[in-house]
Amino acid sequence: MSDGREIYDTVVVGLGPAAYSAALYSARYVLRTIIIGELPGGQLTEAGEVDDYPGLIDVQAQDMLRMFEEHIARYKVPVVVDTVDSITRSGEVYTLKTSSGSLYSAKSVILAIGAKRRTLNVPGEKEFAGKGVSYCAVCDAPLYKNKTVVVVGGGDSALEGAELLSRYAAKVYVVHRRDEFRGQPFYQQSLKEKRNVTLLLSHALREIKGERVVREAIVENLKNGERTTLPVNGVFIEIGFNPPTDFARKNGFEVSEDGYIKVDEWMNTSLEGVFAAGDCNSLWKGFSQIVTAAAQGAVAARSAYNYLNEKKKSVSEIRVK
Ligand code: NAD
Repeated sequence: MSDGREIYDTVVVGLGPAAYSAALYSARYVLRTIIIGELPGGQLTEAGEVDDYPGLIDVQAQDMLRMFEEHIARYKVPVVVDTVDSITRSGEVYTLKTSSGSLYSAKSVILAIGAKRRTLNVPGEKEFAGKGVSYCAVCDAPLYKNKTVVVVGGGDSALEGAELLSRYAAKVYVVHRRDEFRGQPFYQQSLKEKRNVTLLLSHALREIKGERVVREAIVENLKNGERTTLPVNGVFIEIGFNPPTDFARKNGFEVSEDGYIKVDEWMNTSLEGVFAAGDCNSLWKGFSQIVTAAAQGAVAARSAYNYLNEKKKSVSEIRVK
């Protein structure tokens, strides 16, 4: 190292569930680890109650985030809040440059940079995120037992989400701006047959209203401009993700057809010594969960550990006291 910068064994990029898990496992493998991420908590910051992580019952997303933070703090993993702009390789070492101009070097990299859920950007959406506005029916459906919800979207995740919600909720509206759904005919048929589901094609959600929690969704009929107020407790926005394609391409990673970082089942990317976990990669699409992101983070850390051992690259001479 020419400029005296510390060389980590692993740098984890991201501060969501996949990243915290990767950092935890990496530290437990006694790899010198640092974690750098833009938004502490990632998608947890948009969630309310989390009830699908085994062993944690009725936990608030903010509390879960605090537990993730405490867990890696026990292993003294340094946390940097910053955005990684580029990754370059020189010999055996990767150097990451952040938007604040800092440089970090490591012998392996775990990308856990997620994929941004698409938002509608309608009034009330931000305000009620985690308070009735959800981006994941699979995550939150059981919280809406006997309630009324509206699902926005026309693809598989919207229809699958509506189907699941119809098993819990008293009433489900599905709002889609086109005059036909894109999702699988199987889901379309199943939803048409459900007595508690109303399909609103050629409709758009225009506004979400409430006090503290969601109370109403205002939808517009795109054929005649007529607006209707639906009394609802939940709004599920299932209109897809924006994968980190630009970041991946810019840094030389192979991407899947739909723009995610290509990995194998051990989270190896197309670049040796770089692993990708969680929503940013091409695995398990359509089933994006905290538990799956955390699982992939753990696998990525193990792969980094094996990679460093095989290459005898580990600089850690730390012994567990
Ligand atoms: P994530 O989106 O939660 O986290 C990605 C992280 O990477 C964020 O901290 C983001 O700021 C950071 N990041 C992005 N680009 C970056 C860059 N260039 N430099 C530095 N940091 C960058 O993604 P994840 O950890 O892969 O997955 C979380 C999973 O949890 C998702 O599957 C989601 O569906 C799920 N989830 C579920 C619930 C629930 O209620 N059950 C709630 C929240 C999240």
